Amino acid sequence: MIIGGGPGGTTCATHAARLGAHVTLIEKDIVGGAAHLLDCIPSKAMIATGGAMALMKHAQEMGLAKVEVSLDFDALRERILEIEQKLEHSVTSLLLSQGVRIIEGMGTMTGPNSVAVSHNDGKSSELEADVIVLATGSRPRIPDWAPIDGQRVLTTRHAYPPPELPERLIVIGSGVTGVEFVHMFKSFGSEVTLIVSRQQVLPDKDPEVAAVLEQSFLHQGVKLLMGARAESITSSDGVVRVSCDDGRVAEGSHALLAIGSVPNSEGLGLDEAGIEHEWGYVKVDHNSRSNVENIYVAGDLSGKLPLSSVASTQGRKIAEHAMGLHAGRHRHLDYDKAASAIFTDPEIADVGLAEADAFAEGRKIRVTKVPFSVSAKALINNDSRGFVKIVSDPATGVVLGGSIVGRHAAELISVLALAITASLTVTDLVESLFVHPALAEVLGEAAE
Ligand SMILES: Cc1cc2nc3c(=O)[nH]c(=O)nc-3n(C[C@H](O)[C@H](O)[C@H](O)COP(=O)(O)OP(=O)(O)OC[C@H]3O[C@@H](n4cnc5c(N)ncnc54)[C@H](O)[C@@H]3O)c2cc1C
Repeated sequence: MIIGGGPGGTTCATHAARLGAHVTLIEKDIVGGAAHLLDCIPSKAMIATGGAMALMKHAQEMGLAKVEVSLDFDALRERILEIEQKLEHSVTSLLLSQGVRIIEGMGTMTGPNSVAVSHNDGKSSELEADVIVLATGSRPRIPDWAPIDGQRVLTTRHAYPPPELPERLIVIGSGVTGVEFVHMFKSFGSEVTLIVSRQQVLPDKDPEVAAVLEQSFLHQGVKLLMGARAESITSSDGVVRVSCDDGRVAEGSHALLAIGSVPNSEGLGLDEAGIEHEWGYVKVDHNSRSNVENIYVAGDLSGKLPLSSVASTQGRKIAEHAMGLHAGRHRHLDYDKAASAIFTDPEIADVGLAEADAFAEGRKIRVTKVPFSVSAKALINNDSRGFVKIVSDPATGVVLGGSIVGRHAAELISVLALAITASLTVTDLVESLFVHPALAEVLGEAAE
């Protein structure tokens, strides 16, 4: 029995069914989850539209006549809806083809093997299961000083797309979600102010990587309020004011809050089932299993890396473990090897050991960095910004980590992710015959 139909729940459901389990999936809203409906997919769809606009604005540099381009907000809205519907349809079809029973409703555990369901059609029922998987995800954190109205003061849940295109947007929070919003709305032509609580955007990332993004934002005219912590928001007569702890006040037409998330654990029956949790996140072991033997957790609710890719991998691993495959080819999920990307301009992606963390641990590493300006393909693409950085073991050459800043970084990082998972060396990368001309050649150069 799986509660929650996001990437964690649906991947677990299809794998468990393939392995022979009778699977029931309970979803209260839409199969595909917040990932498909509210977070990853609509955000990336809007960023892709902004990217297309940016390319067209540079048309003359590519040998084309000047083109005038403007956003068609209604067409964008339809496009996002269409993508979401297609994804929902394909995930639902996959689940049904594997024999998964889908129940539309809200699931609440009443004990370690029982779930009460409030069906969306008003009925209710009580179901029993040998194994329960909780995959209910998370939602935006809203502090009590933020009067969210969904019109002018927004969270990420109101922004894909927002009710209207913000003329002057204030983004609060400079983590991954915040900087993606800055990039997205700037590319649509909004004036953007970013409130950064520390002295670096993307405070958890390599400072060199963050610096490239900061420069790009400044170059595009984004106003950065560094070292400022938002502490109140007022909205009247179409003007939104965000006051910060250092006395500065940002003014705009809209404000968007991107300051993290909280788990969807209320009403789930964690205490009734005897499950240990902290701040609503369920504590799990290396098999994504809670303290109750037959109850597992996939996705954001587990408090691990809040990524769709991590949620679905946890789901797959849970299916294998619950179906008794852990003695064979099953490998534990190694969160340190998860690749992640930030879909800004330029794109940013990283995987494995970060240079700063290695220094902090006093670990010996070798770091090589090659800029995309050496690449013929980058010149052809009319975009030579960014670099590839590879972190390796100086004694063995084994690839330990890497960061990529530049066009298609989110795709290129997969090469390094595979190298890290398979314990390949920099020599293996050098010996790989990459396509020419291709941006991936820069990976070979950095490895060399
Ligand atoms: C703005 C934004 C952009 C993002 N972009 C990316 C990205 O580019 N790449 C990436 O890898 N990650 C991205 N993420 C993170 C990603 O969206 C999450 O990590 C992912 O959605 C987690 O999946 P999940 O399965 O845990 O839950 P969710 O996708 O949140 O799904 C949980 C589901 O459970 C349902 N549910 C909840 N409670 C109950 C209940 N009691 N009964 C029945 N159903 C219930 C909900 O309706 C929901 O459908 C982004 C997040 C945000 C906020």
